[in-house]
Amino acid sequence: MMPGPMNEDIRQLLVLQDRDAKASRLEAELESIDPEREKTGRDSLQAQQLLEQVKQDHMQLEVRRKDLENEVESRKEQIRKYSQQQLETKKNEEYQALGREIDHTRQAISEIEDRELELMEQQDAFKTKLADAERAAEEAKASEATTLSNLDEREKNIERELDELDDGRGEIVTTINKKTFAHYERLLDSKEGRVIVGIDHGSCGGCHMKLQTQEIVNAKSGREMATCTNCGRLIYYTREMVMADELD
Ligand SMILES: [Zn+2]
Repeated sequence: MMPGPMNEDIRQLLVLQDRDAKASRLEAELESIDPEREKTGRDSLQAQQLLEQVKQDHMQLEVRRKDLENEVESRKEQIRKYSQQQLETKKNEEYQALGREIDHTRQAISEIEDRELELMEQQDAFKTKLADAERAAEEAKASEATTLSNLDEREKNIERELDELDDGRGEIVTTINKKTFAHYERLLDSKEGRVIVGIDHGSCGGCHMKLQTQEIVNAKSGREMATCTNCGRLIYYTREMVMADELD
C-alpha cells in the first residue's frame, strides 16, 4: 500500500492528539493545585483553633482555681475576725458561738481546698493535652509551609511544560490538512481527547461499533479522511492491526 498524504496527516494528528492529551492532563493537575493549597491552609488553621481551644480550657481551669484560692483567703480572714471577736467578748455564750463559726469555716476551707486539689490534677492532665496541641499546631504550620512551597514549584513546572507544549503545537497544526484538523478540533472536547482511533477487529477503536466496509477501505487506502459513521471519530489503519474479520 502506498502511503498517501492522508497517512502523513494521521501520523501528525496522532502526535497532536498525544500532545493535547498531555496538555489536558497537565491542566487538570494545575486545577488541583489551588484546592490543595486551600486544604493545607484549612488543616493548619484547624490545628491552630484546636490549640486555642485547649489554651482557653486550660485558662478557665486556672480562673476557677484562683476563685477557690480567693475564697479560701476570705474565709481565713473571716476566721481572723471571729478570733478577734472572741478575744473582745466577755460573754461565754458568744465566745462559744464564735468558736462554732470558726469550726464551720475551717471545715468549709478544707472542702474548698479539696476541690482546688482536684482542679490542679485536672490542670496537670491538661499539660499533656496542651503540649500535644502545641506540637500538632507547629507541625501543621511547618507542613503547610512545605506543602505550599512544593505546590508553587509544581505549578511553575506544569506551566512551563504547558508553554512548551503550546509552542510546538502550531508547527504541527500547519502540517495537517485544514479540513481534517477542523474535524479534529470540533470533536476534541466531546470525545475527551480521543478523536483519532485505530480500527480494532473491524470496529471503531473509540465507540466499538462495527465499521462500514467503505470506511475501512478508505482507512486502508489512506487517501481519504475515514471516519466512523457512528461516532464521527477519525479512524486509521496500520499493518499491525488485526484485519481478519473486518471485510466480508
Ligand atoms: Zn466510532
